[in-house]
Amino acid sequence: MFFNFRFYLGLHDEDCKIKPTIKVITYWFMMFCHELAHNFVKHHNSEHEYYFLSFVEIYMPNFLELMKKRQFLTSGINDGRCVKLN
Ligand SMILES: [Zn+2]
Repeated sequence: MFFNFRFYLGLHDEDCKIKPTIKVITYWFMMFCHELAHNFVKHHNSEHEYYFLSFVEIYMPNFLELMKKRQFLTSGINDGRCVKLN
């Protein structure tokens, strides 16, 4: 998969250009799952939705665990503040 860093810089707030927020990381996690589904289905339809949600279901627990380890999820509902990655 190819993701354009220039697109990332244009898409997110100034703060997130230096320190990614949980919102930004979640956005890109979902984007990865979406694009992975396109490896199986070209168009956006119910079959694509099936693969997209399957990737989310499979990888979300590990993603959340990683965010917890990286201290993105330490205080219950995260307010999206920028947190420095360790
Ligand atoms: Zn798409």
